[in-house]
Amino acid sequence: MPQKTKNTPMMEQYLAIKDQYKDAFLFYRLGDFYELFYEDAIQVAQLLELTLTSRNRNAEEPIPMCGVPHHSAQGYIDTLVEQGYKVAICEQMEDPKEAKGMVKREVVQLITPGTLMDGKGIEAKANNFLTAVVQSGKAFGFAYADLSTGELKTALLQDEEAVMNEATALQTKEVVLGSEISDELKKNLVERLGLVFSTQETVEDNAEFSFLTTDIDQPLEKEATGKLLTYLSVTQKRSLGHIQKAEEYQPEHFLKLDYFSKTNLELTRSIRTGKKQGTLLWLLDETKTAMGGRLLKQWIDRPLIQKRQIQARQAMVASLLNAYFERMDLNETLTKVYDLERLAGRVAFGNVNGRDLIQLKTSLQQVPQIRQLLSGINQGEWNDLLVDMEPMDELVDLIDRAINEDAPLQITEGNVIKDGYDPQLDQYREAMTNGKTWLAELEARERQETGIKTLKVGYNRVFGYYIEITKANLANLEEGKYDRKQTLANAERFITPELKKLETLILEAEEKSVALEYTLFLAVREEVKKAIARLQKLAKSISAADVLQSFAAVSERYQYVQPEMKAGSHNLQIIEGRHPVVEKVLGHQEYIPNSVHMDPKEMILLITGPNMSGKSTYMRQLALTVIMAQMGCFVPAESAELPIFDQIFTRIGASDDLIAGQSTFMVEMMEANQALRHATPNSLILFDELGRGTATYDGMALAQAIIEYIHKTVKAKTLFSTHYHELTVLEEELPALKNVHVGAVEQNGEVVFLHKLMDGPADKSYGIHVAKIAGMPTELLSRAATILAALESGSNPVQPVEVVAEENQQLSLFSEVSTSELGVIDSLKKANLLEMTPMDALNLLYELQKRI
Ligand code: ADP
Repeated sequence: MPQKTKNTPMMEQYLAIKDQYKDAFLFYRLGDFYELFYEDAIQVAQLLELTLTSRNRNAEEPIPMCGVPHHSAQGYIDTLVEQGYKVAICEQMEDPKEAKGMVKREVVQLITPGTLMDGKGIEAKANNFLTAVVQSGKAFGFAYADLSTGELKTALLQDEEAVMNEATALQTKEVVLGSEISDELKKNLVERLGLVFSTQETVEDNAEFSFLTTDIDQPLEKEATGKLLTYLSVTQKRSLGHIQKAEEYQPEHFLKLDYFSKTNLELTRSIRTGKKQGTLLWLLDETKTAMGGRLLKQWIDRPLIQKRQIQARQAMVASLLNAYFERMDLNETLTKVYDLERLAGRVAFGNVNGRDLIQLKTSLQQVPQIRQLLSGINQGEWNDLLVDMEPMDELVDLIDRAINEDAPLQITEGNVIKDGYDPQLDQYREAMTNGKTWLAELEARERQETGIKTLKVGYNRVFGYYIEITKANLANLEEGKYDRKQTLANAERFITPELKKLETLILEAEEKSVALEYTLFLAVREEVKKAIARLQKLAKSISAADVLQSFAAVSERYQYVQPEMKAGSHNLQIIEGRHPVVEKVLGHQEYIPNSVHMDPKEMILLITGPNMSGKSTYMRQLALTVIMAQMGCFVPAESAELPIFDQIFTRIGASDDLIAGQSTFMVEMMEANQALRHATPNSLILFDELGRGTATYDGMALAQAIIEYIHKTVKAKTLFSTHYHELTVLEEELPALKNVHVGAVEQNGEVVFLHKLMDGPADKSYGIHVAKIAGMPTELLSRAATILAALESGSNPVQPVEVVAEENQQLSLFSEVSTSELGVIDSLKKANLLEMTPMDALNLLYELQKRI
């Protein structure tokens, strides 16, 4: 830091403010610019590609500086915040012209990744959550809010894992912590989930916050919520009137999916691209409103576990499916509904403009139609939703009377309020219009009097209204007729007392009308503000209707069926199910449906089959079907009867880079451990090729032990795919384990995947064929075939080729021939001649001959 004694008073002020915002970039307002200094300037110049200059270039130690014009600052601020930085906006609190001494400056807002309200950092169909975590002993208070929509929720969580799960599910960008949180949890949240971290030690005690938390009794929840609100108030420094009363939720009231599973199943984010494309959200999202899009995401993150609630949603989807025309009308009406939640947020926050209010009006005007459509098809299932869908005619009427349809973005420049809304404003406007007519008359009269046709009345900010006469015509002007005011290259400008009088009239009317419009606008905004709670309720019911119509649309398009939910049952029966996302990508014709049957006697399905045959697709298909069903959506199958699951655990596919610095095998074991420790007989476990990350015997031993443990202790429904064929013998010892395999056939030496699930273990590993499809060299492939034959015959592993080649050509020949021959004998012994067709026998002979 520079020596304070050398600083100018302004830099003193800067440093004092900066000192309070050490972890943010300080945008310091200087006239028309926001300036940054010192380290901030160096970093921001680089991040935003701005020119780095310095404040006192000639001094011994010039102060690095960069800046952005205040009118275009928003874009720069968004870019920084989106990259995970915080920006403190420091404004001039008085007019520099009127200030005595240093202009007073203050930070008016701290913008952080978790407190963004609008701009490009905010996606219409995604929430922007800020989270707070407090700890006492082993328990955690957890709270989150979306400043743009006003949603505020809190929960009591029992361990760090639960905190991580919740934070992941919310895709929160910023977490507010106190110093009691352990370094390890802090590190996990910040590094593993990539969150921005902020501190807040104290909880402010004020009337607004106590009101918002009246329904919360749990002390840790209260503290977490308090901390969150305090942080919001400290950073935003303005009305938080749209924040809704804190609502308590319990993660155990929803289908639990840990963050590994959420990632693996690609519910809302693709593992490869990080985008929505290719996810369940992508498939299900036919919502017409931004709010609906956000609610759908929330429903995917929290499927239900209560039969009654699931069936209530199913009934609404069914009623929409039965009413095609009403549904089409509903869709069309919904497209005219703007983001009511965020509009309400902006009203409270004070950054709403005329256009926003027009959007609000248009949205509210759709409500009666939506209500009518839904009431028309209602047979009781829509009752709850209709109660909250309250039309707000008085608000529509107010905005309609007050606000211009084509109001400008700025609320300070006039033209926002409609004619006829306020008599005083109308008077000013009349004066302005009349004034303009008088000016036109004056111009015509002067032209006539002087005979100068090009004489015109003009206006500029410095001189006001003037009469302009070109140089060429000056000679025709009677000397002294007008007062000369300004000389230009080819014209002269004049004024007259009459013109100045008119000017005063017009400008005064204009100034007054703009000021009055602003006041009137604020009054309308206040009226709307009073209705925020009702608006939010309305928004919720409309978003739910939107998500339900989206379910209906998707269910119809892809021919999904209503699953029968059986609480407390342990039977699962899906006939001809499909993987909804793969089906969407491949097309309905290409996708081979598969059934799933599970019950207490068939609790574990051990799935074998070649790579690429569709094992993991089958497992994901089941998980997605369960999730869709418990969200209340229909499912991709011919019919489905499902128990209600409490949790889903997965170890599928490549989430290997999820945790930097951990080995693949370690991640695999961590994920498996989650399942083994927390699964219940009502849970679903999906393990895909568990154990492949370590040495063969090691992996196989672990896999077997895990299967046995699930069978004996956990008793959860489990799909376990494996390439260890040796495990298929477990069927003999474990009564509730069943072998199934995904079929494949060979045609002309090529393997053809049937993608069809069949009973019993797979009889062959097609790995070499897959390698062939991948284009490996022929020589390598035939060598692999030789080694395989030797291994299958149970003989000693074949010697490596290089060793053989170098040491003893003859031995190599001998050992290869002998092991192959051993394989031939073994295969002959195993051949079941009674069940072979002559063609099979011929094929076998051909195979055997090839081996010797
Ligand atoms: P595995 O887990 O056995 O290696 P995958 O489940 O990854 O195989 O499936 C490999 C590919 O096969 C998938 O990407 C998909 O394109 C296709 N596939 C899987 N199951 C089916 C099916 N039932 N119908 C059609 N294609 C399928």
